[in-house]
Amino acid sequence: MYLAGKKYSVLKSETSKEIVCPKCKTNNSTKVLIIGIYKHLIQIPFLSGGKIGESICNHCNETYKINNMPVNIKLAYYELKETVKTPIWFYTGLIVVKTLVLVKIFSKYF
Ligand SMILES: [Zn+2]
Repeated sequence: MYLAGKKYSVLKSETSKEIVCPKCKTNNSTKVLIIGIYKHLIQIPFLSGGKIGESICNHCNETYKINNMPVNIKLAYYELKETVKTPIWFYTGLIVVKTLVLVKIFSKYF
């Protein structure tokens, strides 16, 4: 277990009807995944590290990462990514720290 590092969480996945798998030529078998990266400190999510994409074919198990993804899958990925927001819990640690700082500031006055 690391004290700090990066973690990955699948935010959304969708099997696109328009995509034909480049390897096995199967229609409607490619699942596009939007994966959120977050940085954690002692297992508490702290900061968002952006999003990455991946696709997997349910038929032949061919997977693509965003950097070697065929254009038609990439388009579906960008379309899906538009609908995904970074979850607020990615910032749990940051919110806690900010709250603590505010509480400390206010406690001086009350
Ligand atoms: Zn396939």
